[in-house]
Amino acid sequence: MLQLTSFSPLLVGEVMAVSNLSASYSSLPRCKSTPFDPSWPSEAQWFSLNASIGDTLIATKPVASLCYTSNPFNSTLSCSEVAENWGFSTFHAELPESVDYPVWANNSCLPPNATGYDESLGCHIGGYPQYIANVTSAEQIATALKWASEQNIRVVVKGTGHDLDGGSTGAYSLSIWTHNLKQLRINDSWKIPGQNERVPVLIAGSGNNWGEALDFALKNGWAVVSGTDKTVGLGGHDALSSTYGLAADQILQATVVTTTGEVLMANSQSNEDLFWAIRGGGAGQYGVVTEYVMLTYPQPVDIVSTNIYLAAANLSDYHDSTINTTWDAFACLLSSFPDLLDRGIAGNGTTDWSKSRGSMIRLIRFMSSMVSIESFGRMIWMPDICVKPRVDISK
Ligand SMILES: Cc1cc2nc3c(=O)[nH]c(=O)nc-3n(C[C@H](O)[C@H](O)[C@H](O)COP(=O)(O)OP(=O)(O)OC[C@H]3O[C@@H](n4cnc5c(N)ncnc54)[C@H](O)[C@@H]3O)c2cc1C
Repeated sequence: MLQLTSFSPLLVGEVMAVSNLSASYSSLPRCKSTPFDPSWPSEAQWFSLNASIGDTLIATKPVASLCYTSNPFNSTLSCSEVAENWGFSTFHAELPESVDYPVWANNSCLPPNATGYDESLGCHIGGYPQYIANVTSAEQIATALKWASEQNIRVVVKGTGHDLDGGSTGAYSLSIWTHNLKQLRINDSWKIPGQNERVPVLIAGSGNNWGEALDFALKNGWAVVSGTDKTVGLGGHDALSSTYGLAADQILQATVVTTTGEVLMANSQSNEDLFWAIRGGGAGQYGVVTEYVMLTYPQPVDIVSTNIYLAAANLSDYHDSTINTTWDAFACLLSSFPDLLDRGIAGNGTTDWSKSRGSMIRLIRFMSSMVSIESFGRMIWMPDICVKPRVDISK
């Protein structure tokens, strides 16, 4: 029988490294500080953080405060104005604390017309951050992150606040709001790190949304892979994705601020693991990105796009059989995606159930920059895709 009598030096080294890691990990507090803990920073400490980041710290004031008796957060925006705008992503993006899906902030302080409104919940900070750093530089972020690490404060990052999973808000946190990192410039001949090749790039502050970044690129004669909706932050997929891949695939370099307050350049030659993670490992987990360098492309000649809505003919018909039929059609269309992708068409699907609006509505969006409008129409002709009773469209 083979017996292991000695360890290789490498293995011993690794074990030691792991045991050191566990020692330092176990010395960390199990939970982040909350305002109910003695360890929560005093007002004077928050003031001093504010002074160290150029007076950019905002104490959270939920915007719908005026919808509640005595306006607990002294909001200046009238309740009717908040209620009218509550359904717009752009409204939430412009506000330091607000997010598109306030269910992730425990539905704190909603205007009366909002989904999830319950008067008895009242108006509290709830799941919104306690303070927000309205930053305009990597240095301010570095100072804020280092301070938060030392004080054991939870950190969240908000760009537009669109996150469907609520990642851009969090209770008892300090939020880094990247909204005002708006720099944009084109470099026609950017040298790829570690290579002799030069390529045209867009260098964009992470606070831009796609509307701003794409408009700037187009005005300068270039196109970028973006999101389809102009209001989303830098990332995602659009009509060019069938040709060039996801927006994350276009990133050649990112400037990242870590929780220890370092400002790192991540690319294929330095901080490669961070670079790899930022291009697909998940948002808000590894540091705060302040700037991206991303590939630009010649502007496409044609973009074709269409939306297919699946719903019962009678929108108030929400019986099981109708619902199942729309699910079948939805599944059928989604299953066609791999084949369509091979033929140059990208797409995505969403589904929505709303009794007040009637039936279940499912949406499939197809788009491409690679095919003509005629072949696009032929390819996404639904009965063909789904092998359902065929209709001869030539008659
Ligand atoms: C109205 C609407 C339209 C949409 N349309 C599209 C579309 O056309 N194409 C598409 O691909 N997707 C689309 N989506 C989905 C969208 O891509 C995701 O919701 C995405 O998470 C939004 O990213 P964001 O940066 O805009 O939002 P945010 O909520 O600000 O951020 C998303 C996540 O990234 C983190 N984060 C933000 N900025 C940074 C930063 N600088 N550094 C580190 N972490 C950061 C946040 O903490 C959060 O976890 C849409 C969503 C909505 C609500």
